[in-house]
Amino acid sequence: MDKVLKFKSVTKVYGEKIALSDFSIEIPKGKIIGLIGPNGAGKSTFMRLAATLIKANKGSLEVLGIEPSAKTKALVSYLPDKPFLYEWMTVDQAIDYFKEFFQDFDENKMNSLLDFMKIDKKSKVKELSKGMLERLNLSLTLSRNAKLYLLDEPLAAVDPTTRDKIINSIIENFNEESTIIISTHLVREVETLFDEVIFIDKGKLIFYEDAEKLRIRKGKPIEDIYKEMFD
Ligand code: ADP
Repeated sequence: MDKVLKFKSVTKVYGEKIALSDFSIEIPKGKIIGLIGPNGAGKSTFMRLAATLIKANKGSLEVLGIEPSAKTKALVSYLPDKPFLYEWMTVDQAIDYFKEFFQDFDENKMNSLLDFMKIDKKSKVKELSKGMLERLNLSLTLSRNAKLYLLDEPLAAVDPTTRDKIINSIIENFNEESTIIISTHLVREVETLFDEVIFIDKGKLIFYEDAEKLRIRKGKPIEDIYKEMFD
């Protein structure tokens, strides 16, 4: 399998609202990819489709070489943009929850990420600050040994220290057998992380390109290209 994700003319609507429109893309393995676009562009919809949480209305998808199913859902490690842990849980219990649900959960990896993120296992989820909770959520997601990671806005509203820790942990945990797709509307903070970037707006693919080639072609950082397009 050389492509981890294939979208063929995918359309997703919510009632009257077209969230993704005739969207086609093929994503190879071994890359860190930025999914970039303003609020409402369709980034979360793309992520949820790839994570097999919702179904397309039109078109077809392949995730890790197979049609979306319970199997693909179990193979993809997805970090939602909304809270997903119960507030009453301790960090320890959140780890147990992941261990039970995901066979690919690697506890050793989790322990070293907790160390790096400076998270105490005895803390309660409801007592964590927004930044600490994002660190915990990302640690859980990256502790799975998945072929495809989908991180939906892991950097929204976090402090600069957390942001740097998140970026470093993504880089350190990346291996060339997997692919990481990260959605963001904060380009400056993360653009050096990306091998490739997908620009998306109004549910449509604007372009998909190698990050370095794009910078050279346009003669400027991706942040400036983004600002010119969307500000
Ligand atoms: P992004 O993640 O880029 O902010 P989304 O994929 O969340 O964009 O949303 C794309 C469009 O679909 C937006 O106009 C949004 O309002 C709409 N949308 C997303 N989810 C729903 C939903 N559950 N019900 C109705 N409209 C939705």
